[in-house]
Amino acid sequence: MTTAASPARRRISILGSTGSIGRNTLDVMSHLGGREAFEVPAITGMGNIDLLVRQARQTGAGFAVTADPDRYAELKSALAGSGIEAGAGPSALIEAGHRDTDLLLAGIVGIAGLAPTLAAIAGGADIALANKECLVSAGDLFTAAIARGGGRLLPVDSEHSAIFQVLEENQRHAVERIILTASGGPFRDHTREQMASMTADVAAAHPNWSMGIKISIDSASMFNKALEMIEARHLFGLRPDQIEVIVHPQSIIHSMVGYSDGSVLAQLGAPDMRHAIGYAISHPRRANLPVERLDFARLARLDFSAPDEIRFPALALARTAMQRGGLQGAILNGAKEAALEAFIAGRIGFLEMADIVAATMDRLDDGRQATGIDDVYAADREARAVAISIIADCGVRQTS
Ligand code: NAD
Ligand code: MG
Repeated sequence: MTTAASPARRRISILGSTGSIGRNTLDVMSHLGGREAFEVPAITGMGNIDLLVRQARQTGAGFAVTADPDRYAELKSALAGSGIEAGAGPSALIEAGHRDTDLLLAGIVGIAGLAPTLAAIAGGADIALANKECLVSAGDLFTAAIARGGGRLLPVDSEHSAIFQVLEENQRHAVERIILTASGGPFRDHTREQMASMTADVAAAHPNWSMGIKISIDSASMFNKALEMIEARHLFGLRPDQIEVIVHPQSIIHSMVGYSDGSVLAQLGAPDMRHAIGYAISHPRRANLPVERLDFARLARLDFSAPDEIRFPALALARTAMQRGGLQGAILNGAKEAALEAFIAGRIGFLEMADIVAATMDRLDDGRQATGIDDVYAADREARAVAISIIADCGVRQTS
């Protein structure tokens, strides 16, 4: 029970609480005081109802939502008697975003997170953003909405958190470049021939970070880094030519900022998403986080190499999308999602993903701009449809 003397609890809603980012967020919150320190107005998941219910009961959430409308009855009956409201489907997700909160952790994967995150932005909440597809697909609309809403945008992606941590606020004019680090993923040293025959299981096994399957495969293809280049452009207001990528297999330097005086500032830490999550939800304070401390004597060395854009064409596609502007970010992401799903289903090879994204981006390169969120969703749908038709044509070619 809250007594008159106890301080108000901070309100944090979590979109995608059952995912990798969501579970790590709840872990950080329990280290930072749990129910004594935090109130949870809303949490959302999709298929894992048992976990969603457990999380809702543990946090005393106000509202628990599954994105899957067919699971409503199951969720409602599992929450019966708890006092926790149940909801399901896209409108309930948006309602979760609308629930009054101090901060919303956007941890849904994909463009499905856009509408509920925009709902929270409109309500003035701070946004801790893991759901990079929001910025990739709707960058200008998203940053304009943040400016109107008045909340802060706090990056959770580890690279962007690193940049955010070393960006000197009054020295923005002196930023020459940012350098995003990339582990290189499981295929860092593979030849193109070896990569061509890789399956989804192998691609999903990331050497350093433990993540959801889609982002793990996106790391193996470096599409994750491609999305992060576009994400960085919008987060930090940079030109495409100011965004560099360097392969750094140890994932200890999480990214760097290069200034006009030649200085480069870096943020280092163990590869553990709880750091970036903890930083975002504690900002501007630094909390005491349960992450491994670096032992430099044991680390001994940090390696770097330029990314090979022949084996990893996703990086060049990100630059093309940024240069073309308009809805090309949404088109890149939509086509990538369709290609990724086809790869996971075993319908296309690993290297074909980039070919399909490139062909879709070219076919839909008509200078279209987004005037509202509906344009973003339409471009996403169209990109998926075009990518699927290209995949079907590839299948015809392969079997004929
Ligand atoms: P995940 O697949 O583990 O979890 C995704 C969450 O979103 C789950 O709660 C799931 O139920 C929900 N979800 C999935 N599809 C949905 C839909 N259509 N509608 C509503 N909810 C849906 O993914 P993750 O690894 O936690 O990644 C989440 C986001 O964070 C992604 O955008 C990812 O790129 C980003 N990110 C993740 C990591 C990481 O280490 N996992 C690091 C940096 C950024
Ligand atoms: Mg990242």
